Amino acid sequence: MENLQTAGVVFRDIWKAKKRISGIIEKTPLLYSQPLSDRAGANVYLKLENMQPTGAFKLRGAANKILSLTEEEKKKGVATFSTGNHGIAVAHVAGANHIPATVCISRRVPQEKVKKLKRLGAHVEIVGDNQDDAEQYCYELEKQSGITVIKPFDDLEVIAGQGTIGLEILEACPEVDQVIIPLSGGGLLAGISLAMKATDPGIDITGVSMEKGAVMHESLKHGKPVVLKESDTLADSLLGGLGPDNRYTFSMVKHLMDQSVLVSEAVIAKGIMFMLEYHKMAIEGAAGAGIGWLLGEESNRYENIVIIISGNNVDHETIRSLTDKY
Ligand SMILES: *Cc1c(COP(=O)(O)O)cnc(C)c1O
Repeated sequence: MENLQTAGVVFRDIWKAKKRISGIIEKTPLLYSQPLSDRAGANVYLKLENMQPTGAFKLRGAANKILSLTEEEKKKGVATFSTGNHGIAVAHVAGANHIPATVCISRRVPQEKVKKLKRLGAHVEIVGDNQDDAEQYCYELEKQSGITVIKPFDDLEVIAGQGTIGLEILEACPEVDQVIIPLSGGGLLAGISLAMKATDPGIDITGVSMEKGAVMHESLKHGKPVVLKESDTLADSLLGGLGPDNRYTFSMVKHLMDQSVLVSEAVIAKGIMFMLEYHKMAIEGAAGAGIGWLLGEESNRYENIVIIISGNNVDHETIRSLTDKY
């Protein structure tokens, strides 16, 4: 059999991750969506990662990375510069395992987020005026004190952790022939598609990004990671760059993804509202993007479609503004 081109991450890593993280993550439901199936003319299932204890799939990758550290490394502690779903996941896993966690953030991060991270037991370091300053400080800490920076996507163990979603999908729906995955740094897509393609290379992998700042999409077009200007989007969890030293995800996404599609803010809003109206769940923009895209497709050639509902980190204000408009 031809080898999968996966920059050194192998299918076995995902099985190891499944064993390592089983005590801390939820095995999430794969919900059959009748209203979406009716519209798409196919069986459509929703993989509900919004039901993880932290509200997003990032728990899987963070848990796999942190639990794979040596005792020595665990004692020195972990750090992250993310204030979003990844930062929450790192704080949660570290807290549950009595490992010190430091979150480096800029002065501009809202108090609400700071409070949430502190409640999870993290030590919050406020440095500089923007996210880049915070990131730089985080890596300085690593050099000085031997703390381990837990990267949000470009790490073998993180990718393998996200890949455990793929194993659960295959177990619940072995007939799956298309997986629709929100795409930013590509850890989620790389992990799931490795599990899918190792099982059957014919399973279609579709990556969904927002029109505003689709960094992986543009990077693939240019043949290397590019930097884009960030703008406001409902899919705020999909913002951010790939990093100039990207080791795994750019190459894996390039070789494993079948198509990359872009969605407008209105399409993302439709996805969020569909989930609220028909399944009574509030999800964030990144998670609604795939539903919105599928709703807009006139025809499709797949019979068993899975959409990854990646997270629920959305505030009341955002939902309210959408219910007024849509
Ligand atoms: C991080 C995140 C994504 C994208 O994951 P990548 O591994 O960066 O591609 C999608 N949805 C949510 C809710 C996220 O937090």
